Amino acid sequence: MIVRDVRLEGAATDLRVADGVFTEIGPDLVATPGEEIVEGHGRLVLPPFIESHIHLDSVLTAGDPEPNRSGTLFEGIERWAQRKEKLTVADVKERVNRVVRQQASFGVQFVRTHVDVTDPSLTALRALLELRDELSDVMTIQIVAFPQEGICSFPGGKDLMREAVGLGVDALGAIPHFEFTREYAVDSLNFVAELAAESGLLIDVHCDEIDDEASRGLETLATRAYELGLGGRVTASHTTAMHSYNNAYFTRLLRLLTMSGINFVSNPVVNTHLQGRTDTYPKRRGVTRVKELTEAGINVSFGQDDICDPWNPLGTGNLRDVVFTGLYVTQMLGHDQIADSHRFVTTNAARTLNLGEAYGIEVGRPANFVVLDAGSWYDALNWNAVVVGSYRAGRLITRTEPVRREVLF
Ligand SMILES: [Zn+2]
Repeated sequence: MIVRDVRLEGAATDLRVADGVFTEIGPDLVATPGEEIVEGHGRLVLPPFIESHIHLDSVLTAGDPEPNRSGTLFEGIERWAQRKEKLTVADVKERVNRVVRQQASFGVQFVRTHVDVTDPSLTALRALLELRDELSDVMTIQIVAFPQEGICSFPGGKDLMREAVGLGVDALGAIPHFEFTREYAVDSLNFVAELAAESGLLIDVHCDEIDDEASRGLETLATRAYELGLGGRVTASHTTAMHSYNNAYFTRLLRLLTMSGINFVSNPVVNTHLQGRTDTYPKRRGVTRVKELTEAGINVSFGQDDICDPWNPLGTGNLRDVVFTGLYVTQMLGHDQIADSHRFVTTNAARTLNLGEAYGIEVGRPANFVVLDAGSWYDALNWNAVVVGSYRAGRLITRTEPVRREVLF
């Protein structure tokens, strides 16, 4: 197959795909007899979008059994604890199947989902493990064992984490700011770092998702990553307390973060909704320092976090909305910052997920790509261009008609 006349990194080109991989990339490719040709009409191609932080187990549960009336993170955890009692494998699979298809229609092909393992039956984890296999042809799902109610503060928390490793998770989580004490927070991070070093798994911690400037799980996580040589296998998600750190502390911390080589995920939509809830005025935005981390050469990606669940009553899974909001909230609307901002949900996120050569539009790599109804990312972002086609190993897996508006005056 040849995909003809598309824009790749600012230049017009064609793509040739055979046996599910890119075999040739360049202008004016000549079709062989009988070779299928897809017209690109000068549209933008990108590698598929990557959802680097979401909670698929809780999607589409907002209001069930009760809505989160205060809009806080902590009430969200209480509401989820109620809903968790009703979970069945079939319930989780039905909701996740719906959301994954919606994500796919927005050009997402890779998802890192956190799954709550503070549940002695591990129901949601079992459902997600089944889905990871069932959907692998169309969606790559990475599963993080996420201890929503703590590792040291939840009865049997460490055993549940070990059980999740045995069942086959891809990554280990932690939630230091929710542990009962600072000592438990440190202990939980040490536990996870050692378990990951032993098992070869990745780490993705819900780290300091609170407006408390004294919440400093991140320095422990980064130090363990540095000392154990885990580097890019480790991700710190949220780190919203960093928003409130004093600059002297942040400057010292930045040296460690750079040395450690860890990744960051910011969830700008959900954290602007959840954070600052104990403030009167001024109210903090509660989003981590994406601009400063990026300028220091540290890898940051953006995630949606929640779709219609106890922490976010809205959300579609369209990562364009996350990038759009994220650039406003982090004040990253310089021309060049906009132009390459898809990287927060493409190449940067690929690094977070450790996708390596499984990702990217290059000869020899799997022919996974999306075609947008725009000639540039700048236009696609601004005008919310639809993904007209999402290709997985060269196969069209979603298709959306371009929006055509008529103004009748
Ligand atoms: Zn999260």
